[in-house]
Amino acid sequence: MKYVLVTGGVVSGLGKGVTASSIGLLLQACDLRVTSIKIDPYLNTDAGTMSPFEHGEVFVLDDGGEVDLDLGNYERFLDIKLTRDHNITTGKIYQSVIDKERRGDYLGSTVQVVPHITDAIQSWIKRVAAIPVDGKEGSPDVCVIELGGTIGDIESMPFIEALGQFSYRVGAGNFCLIHVSLVPVLNVVGEPKTKPTQHSVRGLRSMGLVPNLLACRSTTELDVNVKEKLSRFCHVSLQNIVSLYDVTNIWHIPSLLREQKAHEAILKALDLLSVVRKPALEEWTAMAQRCDMLHEPVRVAMVGKYTGLSDSYLSVVKALLHASVACRRKLLINWVSASDLEDATALKSPDVNRAAWNSLKAADAVVVPGGFGDRGVEGKIIAAKYARENNIPYLGICLGMQIAVIDYARSVLDLQNANSTEFDPKTENPCVIFMPEGSKTHMGGTMRLGSRRTYFHATDCKSAQLYGNQSFIDERHRHRYEVNPNMVPQLEKAGLSFTGKDESGQRMQIVELPSHPYFVGVQFHPEFKSRPGKPSALFLGLIAAASGQLDWLLKKSVGSKANGCSIGKGMSGLSSTHHRYVNVNGNVSVGSFDGMYSNSNGLHV
Ligand code: GLN
Repeated sequence: MKYVLVTGGVVSGLGKGVTASSIGLLLQACDLRVTSIKIDPYLNTDAGTMSPFEHGEVFVLDDGGEVDLDLGNYERFLDIKLTRDHNITTGKIYQSVIDKERRGDYLGSTVQVVPHITDAIQSWIKRVAAIPVDGKEGSPDVCVIELGGTIGDIESMPFIEALGQFSYRVGAGNFCLIHVSLVPVLNVVGEPKTKPTQHSVRGLRSMGLVPNLLACRSTTELDVNVKEKLSRFCHVSLQNIVSLYDVTNIWHIPSLLREQKAHEAILKALDLLSVVRKPALEEWTAMAQRCDMLHEPVRVAMVGKYTGLSDSYLSVVKALLHASVACRRKLLINWVSASDLEDATALKSPDVNRAAWNSLKAADAVVVPGGFGDRGVEGKIIAAKYARENNIPYLGICLGMQIAVIDYARSVLDLQNANSTEFDPKTENPCVIFMPEGSKTHMGGTMRLGSRRTYFHATDCKSAQLYGNQSFIDERHRHRYEVNPNMVPQLEKAGLSFTGKDESGQRMQIVELPSHPYFVGVQFHPEFKSRPGKPSALFLGLIAAASGQLDWLLKKSVGSKANGCSIGKGMSGLSSTHHRYVNVNGNVSVGSFDGMYSNSNGLHV
């Protein structure tokens, strides 16, 4: 096993996760089997209880692990499936050491950070690195370890010490350290400043870690004289200093690394240069270039609670982008704060309310993503109603499905106070109810989490066709509430169709409105399994519907038994002239920022 450690210097938010994922992809392109571990030096056991507004979305894995969003980048770039143990936190390490202490495993000794915590970190890394993640048997060849935070943080000290010992233990030729740092340009002098990087490399060395490569983030390409200066002061050879300047979309980073021969420097450090092939990145690079050339827009209104930080819905944005690229459309996202659509806002701040409505109405499609808590729920219900009544393609994810059912019960069944017991525990018409296996007293890891099976209960529905007419699918879940099975007959009689259920037939997983061009709600989160070049089936259906291509797509998929995700392949034949829904000028903003990688005009993949 070979290890590549990626650390960060100077500031956070440099795009370290994307850099580490790109390094992994580059090594994969050399025909190596790559896995990855993310270390988050915070005390939370996992990301499940952390606010998406502060930390970005909580990514959910097949095994139900609620982890840092960087694991999503790894899964998407490397097309692998990770486990909860691939996300190490201080909380997990301390918990394992304290559990051992209570069991009596250290009887007689004083339990200390060094060696007990540092040993626990090292054996965790060794154990998890060996887990196969690409569907093949046997251990991967290379493990990319990303250390969260910035060199010098108090929190990461035990990890740095452990990794220093680890590099020594696995020996030269098996360990490569890449330090991602910032080279800012100050307006006053207009010259790239190397001092912050010098300081952070000095910090790294003082703690026993020696960088093999420097990956320097900057707005423009670094001159050779800047690289020479860095080389001299940081004791890293010139050819091992890579300039990672801003690009139009993050899919370009792997080729940026390859052009500067970063793979050669890494492979040399890992003693692999003579045994692997040259990186084959043609397909990936072509996709990155194609993405830049898209010009015909598709506008999606994202109606959520955390619209101030687009990272809160990172995987949804990525899934929309994968689908848009497959449909040859340039993705534009109208961020709509759900509560701004409500009547209460219309009274208090009419301008805000008007702007939100204009933004919603300007969109070709509406997405209501997952969410918790009652703020903005009424606004989300209004958005689902608007999409339903105006034949606008709609995808409701988890809470987005639940609120679509609430709207239907209120508007069509005329059950005015229909609600979820999450928001109105005493409602007379509980169309969404608490699930027995959940917990209301313990919030950490007590939801219905991870990969669960959905069986299709109809074959002529859009979702089954989009998934390639399979009898069942596996998608990832994260919820405590579900559609009340007692109200299903009533809702179905009124025209809603529950087309996907769990094995018991009691748990509603997919709902559709057959009379609508595209109105789909899912209790699971299909966004977590979407991949560049392999868009998630239901996102593809949404964007195809929003761009007048759904009929073509459904005809194509009839009779096909393909994996739903692969439907996106072969989409290049789609005409770019179909456009059923007319765009109205509205409040338009571009999708998510990945650290500081892209400029504001860029697409974010
Ligand atoms: N709050 C809802 C539930 O717990 C929806 C969760 C979600 O959207 N992920 O069921």
